[in-house]
Amino acid sequence: MYRPHPFSWVPAAGQRHASTESRPPGGFPTGMAVTVLCGEFLHADNSELAWLWNTCPPCNEKAHLLAGVPLVIQR
Ligand SMILES: [Zn+2]
Repeated sequence: MYRPHPFSWVPAAGQRHASTESRPPGGFPTGMAVTVLCGEFLHADNSELAWLWNTCPPCNEKAHLLAGVPLVIQR
């Protein structure tokens, strides 16, 4: 299966996190327990609104590292 980056985004617990776990087709289903890049173990939320949540900063940083893309942190 083609994966452009070695991680997937997963909305959970009020933020958009990233995870290296393989993403099921259609995305992580709501309630699925996922280990995310910031070290948390969270339950995915696949609702439509969840995709509007802010990106978890530690996950964003690690996702950029994994993708080999420099991250410009805006403060
Ligand atoms: Zn996170």
